[in-house]
Amino acid sequence: MIGDRKVNVFFDDVMLGHDPKVDLPFMPSRVEKRVRMVLQNLDFKWSYPEHPGRLKAIKQYLEECPVPGVHFTSGPSATYDQLSRVHTTSYLDHIFSLEGQSAWLDRDTTAVSPDSIKAATAAAGNAIAAVESVFTEACQSAFALVRPPGHHAEPVRARGFCLLNNVAVAAAHAQAKLGCERILIVDWDAHHGNGTQDIFWADPDVLFFDTHCAAPFYPGSGLLEEVGAGMGEGYTINVPLPETAGDVAFEKAFRDILLPAAEHFQPDLVLVSAGFDPHHNDMALNLTYNGFKVLTRMLQDIADRHCDGRLVLVLEGGYNLTSLSRGVHAVLEVLAGGEADEVVECGVNEVAAAAAFHRSAFIDDDQR
Ligand SMILES: [Zn+2]
Repeated sequence: MIGDRKVNVFFDDVMLGHDPKVDLPFMPSRVEKRVRMVLQNLDFKWSYPEHPGRLKAIKQYLEECPVPGVHFTSGPSATYDQLSRVHTTSYLDHIFSLEGQSAWLDRDTTAVSPDSIKAATAAAGNAIAAVESVFTEACQSAFALVRPPGHHAEPVRARGFCLLNNVAVAAAHAQAKLGCERILIVDWDAHHGNGTQDIFWADPDVLFFDTHCAAPFYPGSGLLEEVGAGMGEGYTINVPLPETAGDVAFEKAFRDILLPAAEHFQPDLVLVSAGFDPHHNDMALNLTYNGFKVLTRMLQDIADRHCDGRLVLVLEGGYNLTSLSRGVHAVLEVLAGGEADEVVECGVNEVAAAAAFHRSAFIDDDQR
């Protein structure tokens, strides 16, 4: 029943301070010139899609429709040392030098505003705090509602709206400080988590499982053949999907690939890069709210079976504010003890209801 399980949700207003404006004067550079050219050629007014309104919409919806068992809290910002477990010091020095400035970091639309660095370190810190909270048994699971997102950020490079790789920073912290030996990271965002894959590419202690819309969809990586290297070979699992894939395909990927992999790996912590852009209202793929619930339920089962239920979700993408906020709500209901319905192909339930409705028109009473 919803409310049976305790869930901590990590949130901090500091993360609303990351607010790049495309019409601000940015640092002059070749990248900036290219971005300007692209923007000038667009027919419509382009605004930065990864904006503070995303978190505000989620917070507002959770306040209007609270989920029993969910408790809001926040954690401290990540320290330089915590970040340097997954990012190089030269990259971090560059990022920290941008505090108080506006700048483009990457031509694929990653930019900062004066308060972005504070927001990014708060995002990574709240992901760490969420992991710590499931180890202190303050709760069974936790959801870090953070931005900027993280899974495209590489050890030396910001990409795709991501500055610091929040989920990787949290995993590295669990390895370094919480005694975790084997961490499962599941990335269900519509985009491939190239940064997370990069960071743990040769690490056999982190199993990375990623479902995403197949290349050439951004960032273009995540091919089936990308399986890790060296000691880490076999510990990266990519499941590229056609953009029409929905609940049934996702459930099958989790059941036929993730479940046996987790059984073999025996994680002591399950982390999730939870993006809501695979919802059918958003960028690509066709998940429904129940689809997110089913995936959450399966991850909860893995966590219950192998690691005392320790399950931590970290927000990634999701740009349609309705499906983003309702998607988070649906996932929290399951984390708090709610159930998911069986997956069916989109429309099958509606057809069943329509069939029941029309039945009396063409079947006689005595035949029913
Ligand atoms: Zn995404």
